[in-house]
Amino acid sequence: MHELSIMENVLDISVDYAEKNHASKIVQINITSGALSNIIPKWAQLFFRMISKDTIAEEASVEFEILPVFVKCRECENISKIESDPPSFVCKDCGSDAVTLLSGREFQIKSIEII
Ligand SMILES: [Zn+2]
Repeated sequence: MHELSIMENVLDISVDYAEKNHASKIVQINITSGALSNIIPKWAQLFFRMISKDTIAEEASVEFEILPVFVKCRECENISKIESDPPSFVCKDCGSDAVTLLSGREFQIKSIEII
């Protein structure tokens, strides 16, 4: 249930941003999240709905873009996209598990739409 604390952060940042820009309402919040960050958008949206009540973000929709996981092999330098769930971190080219995570853990607010 770590979505709750994450969404509290998102709400704080969004309200802060909206107030600084003298907005009356937050319309939409766009979030990019790595596939490994374990965010379940459905839960995140539900929590957001709950905690944003009586704030200017009350009616905001929260959209998630899930970013894929990429690893780079330390043996052959090949870059693999990991699509299995649960993820298995092996090089698709040579099968080595000596791989470095390139992306998949990120979580950020991409944009906030206000009026
Ligand atoms: Zn390899």
